[in-house]
Amino acid sequence: MSDKNELRGFDLLHDASSNKSTVFSAEERDAFGLRGLLPAAICSQDVQLERILENVRRKSNDIERYVFLSALQDRNERLFYRAVIDNINELLPLVYTPTVGQACKEFAHIFRQTRGFYVTPDDRGHIRANLDNWPEEDVRVVVITDGERILGLGDLGANGMGIPIGKLALYVACAGIDPSQCLPVMLDVGTNNEELRQDPLYLGTNTARLEGKAYDDLVEEFVLAIQDKYPSALIQFEDFLTPNAYRLLNTYRDRVLSFNDDIQGTAAMVLSGIYASTRISGLKFEDLKLMFLGAGSAATGIADLLTKALVEKGLSEQEARQRLWFVDINGLVVGSRDDLAPHNLPYAHDHPPASFIDAIRVLEPNILVGATGAPGTFTEDAVRLMAEINERPGIFALSNPTSRAECTAEQAYEWTSGAAIFASGSPFSPVTLNGVTHHPGQGNNVYIFPGVGLGALASGATRICDEMFLAAAGTLAATVSPTDLANGSIYPPLADIRSVSLAIATTVAEVAHARGLASRPRPDDLEQMILKTMYDPSY
Ligand code: NAD
Repeated sequence: MSDKNELRGFDLLHDASSNKSTVFSAEERDAFGLRGLLPAAICSQDVQLERILENVRRKSNDIERYVFLSALQDRNERLFYRAVIDNINELLPLVYTPTVGQACKEFAHIFRQTRGFYVTPDDRGHIRANLDNWPEEDVRVVVITDGERILGLGDLGANGMGIPIGKLALYVACAGIDPSQCLPVMLDVGTNNEELRQDPLYLGTNTARLEGKAYDDLVEEFVLAIQDKYPSALIQFEDFLTPNAYRLLNTYRDRVLSFNDDIQGTAAMVLSGIYASTRISGLKFEDLKLMFLGAGSAATGIADLLTKALVEKGLSEQEARQRLWFVDINGLVVGSRDDLAPHNLPYAHDHPPASFIDAIRVLEPNILVGATGAPGTFTEDAVRLMAEINERPGIFALSNPTSRAECTAEQAYEWTSGAAIFASGSPFSPVTLNGVTHHPGQGNNVYIFPGVGLGALASGATRICDEMFLAAAGTLAATVSPTDLANGSIYPPLADIRSVSLAIATTVAEVAHARGLASRPRPDDLEQMILKTMYDPSY
């Protein structure tokens, strides 16, 4: 890799991390051989930003905006991050959900510049050597997917690369991880999506998916290669199919600095929303009963963390689990069913089988949590029934992207005459009903994983433990202001995300120090130390 400090002229203008383009001063233009290569005006970053936003807004659709922003990331990284940080409400939905879902579907058609690292079955035995082709020496965060369960969209094969790229952009924008320390990885083991395989533009390995031992061996080789080249890197597993997600989590959680965002990050984000919802409903957290629609990795991860949180409140594990009920595609999850996955068994209670609506009627939950990937499954009947049972029913429609949400914000408020405490995975606009405007909270993992990662890196954590996610959930809930709650929102404004991430990072680092998982000495002022490490994209 060339030394960035020595870059000059055209090379400097084409290096995304060093390029300031029209902001280069007269002195810099002289010193770096830029005379003649730039228009005369010397701009500020603010003027550049104005131009960026003008261009974003003039595009005719969100995919075009996504392509434009990706190109900006490729040519001027600091301007890209400045734009995202300063306009997070407008640009986050373009850089991540919901637009990233469409971008993944169309990945092979909108592909311009390669970004990230690919691992295929053909790379067996060479992954460590291939890693030497990556230009950075100090990678700290790796986000890896195999593309098999992208958001709620299913198997998108190598098109899923949009997810690690997007998640790492959020690490940078929301928690100030240095972009050079981020490595997006596509574990491209083929796809069982026939439509993709027939697409002549498809860019991935065009075979059926690798499975079984060969699959696990490839993951193992990759993990060992990362540990060898970047020993302090955190590995985040993202959008794996549920059985693989659980197996990999259980294989690596005690061996490697790693976590699964769909299971653990989602859990902390939802737990935080549940904590905050009790400040609206007035119910005690330890008295709540929840019903999950969907019993996959997201829902079970939430239930596992909730169990731990309820045990902290003094319940036994058994009592805690009795508060948590699941309904999946085949109805209420009960002990007599013989089609359940291992992760469902702790929640398969002794109860007659029931449909979703009957289960709500009989069990009277306070909160519904949807993690199905199946839109419209929070039906009008179900939501109305929740409002009959509860003064302030919790309706969490978490499935992404927006088109997969179990119900819309408008439906939740309308069917409950505005009583619902609503949260969704992807953003919904405010809804005005009978003169009252409700601001739906976005239960997005972005509130959790960047802060957890930052805290782990800052403390030199050797492992990620559940207590870090419990602490993150409590810290996030505490950042929700009375004004947010009065507006109906159980999450803080996205505009506060950097200070939220800093607060979470500080508590996560505290947990690492307290539990003997930190490899660095604890500084006197942990928060200040972390703040100082945060990447600032200003020139
Ligand atoms: P999964 O495939 O493991 O689980 C899906 C579950 O939904 C299964 O139990 C299935 O039986 C059930 N289901 C499907 N259709 C149903 C129907 N019509 N009625 C009842 N149950 C039905 O998937 P997962 O990893 O658990 O993810 C599920 C969803 O959660 C995805 O759409 C994902 O976008 C969402 N999610 C959201 C966030 C967030 O940030 N908000 C985070 C993680 C996952």
